[in-house]
Amino acid sequence: MNFDAVRGRASDGWVTSTPSVIDRLRTRDSGRVPFSVEFSPPRDEAAEARLWRAVRVFERLGPSFVSMTYGAGGSTRDRTVRVTGDLAEETTLLPVAHLTAVSHSVDELRSMVGAYADRGISNILVLRGDPPGDPLGEWVKHPDGVEYAEDLVRLVRDLGDFHVGVASFPEGHYRAPDLAHDTRYLVSKLRAGAEYSITQMFFDVEQYLRLRDRVAAFDPIEGAKPIIPEIMPITSLRSVRRMVELSGSSLPPDLERRLANAAGDGPEENRAAVREIGIDMATEMCERLVAEGAPGLHFITLNFARATAEVLERLGDKIGSAVPAGSVPEVPARAVS
Ligand SMILES: Cc1cc2nc3c(=O)[nH]c(=O)nc-3n(C[C@H](O)[C@H](O)[C@H](O)COP(=O)(O)OP(=O)(O)OC[C@H]3O[C@@H](n4cnc5c(N)ncnc54)[C@H](O)[C@@H]3O)c2cc1C
Repeated sequence: MNFDAVRGRASDGWVTSTPSVIDRLRTRDSGRVPFSVEFSPPRDEAAEARLWRAVRVFERLGPSFVSMTYGAGGSTRDRTVRVTGDLAEETTLLPVAHLTAVSHSVDELRSMVGAYADRGISNILVLRGDPPGDPLGEWVKHPDGVEYAEDLVRLVRDLGDFHVGVASFPEGHYRAPDLAHDTRYLVSKLRAGAEYSITQMFFDVEQYLRLRDRVAAFDPIEGAKPIIPEIMPITSLRSVRRMVELSGSSLPPDLERRLANAAGDGPEENRAAVREIGIDMATEMCERLVAEGAPGLHFITLNFARATAEVLERLGDKIGSAVPAGSVPEVPARAVS
């Protein structure tokens, strides 16, 4: 284990001594931008083995933190908690657990937070979640649950010494009637105690910059909190189209056209050609984001390391590693149970 978690429930809440995401973002001050990665809970043993292969590659690259998404409504809850806990205990990585409000009572949410604290996890990305089944369908609050992410931020903060992040949306959240509404409620989450936000994936850096300006104009204090851009190195047109559709965001028409041309008309898309555009585009976006002062770069990996590693390699010494030089860990074999 790379850090000592002081576990157990103190009289006034859970107490941990793990570093926070904000601590880890401080390497930005040294002129290099930290990066981080997003994993998803594996559905079966083969997927878990694949995740661990990616984990071992990233351990050598030194992300400032790794986040683990949470299946809508808790469909993979036990596996998610177990794997995220294993990341905390068996690797050098700093895990951030996503926690979603949808379909859960307050008691269940409290017990999830306790389960994470038991495994030494103190960084939580608090989300509302989307309705299971149809993510764009009507959002129905659990009768004993919470309505908005902002309420869950308060709940988690009240439970103890947790470091909380939230979601932000460069294009505006698809349920928000306009960008002013979107900005107002993002700021509410930050005022409720969130220390930073991670954006939804986007493909136009201007949208990220406008989000940052909007939040800073609405509230200069909360607007100074880090907004970490989320980058998706595209390796498949079919899968990015699906992700964009499910998240209520969009692919710029120009990019979609280029990707569609590269994919071709065959029964199988030309993945190599799509990937080339995707990696080029992700690298260009990261270069611009670094130049514009982004506090970090958070990569969606889908539990594969190669595409992100390639982008990082191209970015070279613009990127900071959380692994001190000369201390690259060995890659131990890990049995997947
Ligand atoms: C980085 C990132 C990671 C994600 N990880 C996951 C994951 O692991 N699992 C998962 O299921 N989903 C995940 N999501 C998706 C997320 O759960 C959905 O986008 C969800 O629809 C919105 O979540 P939120 O936390 O932003 O909600 P909220 O902040 O609660 O906002 C939801 C909507 O309500 C509005 N709103 C907020 N507060 C109020 C208020 N007080 N009054 C009126 N309107 C209000 C907002 O403007 C917005 O339109 C992630 C999204 C991002 C960007």
